[in-house]
Amino acid sequence: MRALVVDDSRFVREYLHSLFARRGVPCVEAADGSEGLDCLRQLGPFEFALLDWNMPVMSGIKMLREARADSLFDQTRMIMMTTEAENDHIEAALEAGADEYMVKPFDEEGLFEKLRMAGVEGI
Ligand SMILES: [Mg+2]
Repeated sequence: MRALVVDDSRFVREYLHSLFARRGVPCVEAADGSEGLDCLRQLGPFEFALLDWNMPVMSGIKMLREARADSLFDQTRMIMMTTEAENDHIEAALEAGADEYMVKPFDEEGLFEKLRMAGVEGI
């Protein structure tokens, strides 16, 4: 199992990386959606990807739409992360093909619960 973390905040990337490392899940980090797509294409397959919504260069929602347009990534669970809890954001994410939606801030328990809800098994 491998994870992809896409967030422009180094703090968030390192936090998630450390949570996955403790569970023995290797984790690749990207700082924007464009880098995230490159990682999917060049370093995949990934079991799941966590996508921040607001990022420079390419947002998480745009990355999600591009990734979901490519059947190569059908098996990769995608979870959107954002501080925005408005219903229209959640709907947009689900319509774009997100498996789950997670509102920041979240804790370790909340993260792994969401991953299981997204269908990531054995984590
Ligand atoms: Mg951000």
